[in-house]
Amino acid sequence: MLEYAVFGNPIAHSRSPQIHQAFARQQGLPMVYERVLAPLDGFQAALADFFRHGGVGANVTVPFKTEAYAAADVLSARAQAAGAVNTLYKQPDGRILGDNTDGEGLVRDIVDLHGHTLAGKTILLLGAGGAARGAVGALLAAQPQALTVVNRTADKARQLAADQGVHWAEYATVAAQRFDVVINATSGSLNGDLPPLADAVLAKAELVYDMMYAAAPTPFLAHARACGAAAVVDGLGMLVAQAAAAYALWRGFSPELAPVVAQIRAEMEPPCAG
Ligand code: NDP
Repeated sequence: MLEYAVFGNPIAHSRSPQIHQAFARQQGLPMVYERVLAPLDGFQAALADFFRHGGVGANVTVPFKTEAYAAADVLSARAQAAGAVNTLYKQPDGRILGDNTDGEGLVRDIVDLHGHTLAGKTILLLGAGGAARGAVGALLAAQPQALTVVNRTADKARQLAADQGVHWAEYATVAAQRFDVVINATSGSLNGDLPPLADAVLAKAELVYDMMYAAAPTPFLAHARACGAAAVVDGLGMLVAQAAAAYALWRGFSPELAPVVAQIRAEMEPPCAG
C-alpha cells in the first residue's frame, strides 16, 4: 500500500523519495514513498485515488501546488498566505490538511544549516511566483529590518506586496541600493537566465541565496560570486528542510537535516572519470 508520495509533472528528477527514506531510517521506521507522475489534467483524480487507497501524506511539486491548495479540506495559515500547498496530510478525522513548508525550509536552511542571521537584515526577494509567495511569511517571522520584492512582471510583485504586507519595487529602482540578503525565487536559473538585477546589488550582499540547486553552482550563484558576493548558498538545504517539516507533520519526528543534505549532495555529484 502506498502511504506517502510526491506528485508532479515531470517527477522523475525528484529527490524526495531518497530524502524521506533517509528521514525514516533516522526514525527507525519503514516507509513506502514513491513518485507519482500525475497527468497535467488529472492531478485531482490521482490525488483522490491515492488517499482513497491508504495514502497518508503527499508532497506536491510543479505544476500542481495551486491545485493542491484547492484540493485540501483545511488549510494551515501559512498555506492560506501563500495561496499554494506543497504538503498534504490525511488527518485522523479523515480531512485532508494542506500546508506550505517551503518558507520554513528556506529559513531553516539559511539560519540553522548555514548560520546566517535574518533578524534585523534587509532582504531582497527576486520573483513573485509560488516559491516567493511561500517564502514571505517565514521570512517576515524571522524579523528582518525590511523585505522588498521585485519581479520581472511588476504587477505580480505589487500584488504579492499588497497580499502579504511587504515592500515591492522594480529591478531598476533597487540597482543602487544595498541589501544584506538577496534571495532568488525566480525560475530563471532553470534555463540559465539571470534576473535583471544590477551586479552592484550582488557585490554588496553578505548572502546571496538561490532556491534552485544543482551539482555545480547555479548560473545565478556563479554570477553572484564573480560579482563579489560574500557568501552564496543554493536551495538543496531548503529542499531537505521543507521535506523535514512535512515528515514531522506526518510522523511526529523532526529529522536531522545536515546528514541528509550531505547524502543528497553526494548523490548529485557526477561520477569521477576513470
Ligand atoms: P513560478 O513559475 O511560480 O514563478 C517563476 C518566477 O520567476 C516568476 O516570478 C517569474 O517572473 C520569474 N522569472 C522566470 N524567468 C525569469 C527571468 N528570466 N528573469 C526574471 N524573472 C524570471 O515558479 P516557482 O515560484 O514555483 O519556482 C521558482 C524557483 O524556485 C524554481 O527554480 C524552483 O525550482 C525553485 N524552488 C525551490 C524549492 C526548494 O525546495 N529548493 C522549492 C520551491 C521552488 P514573471 O512573473 O515575470 O513571469
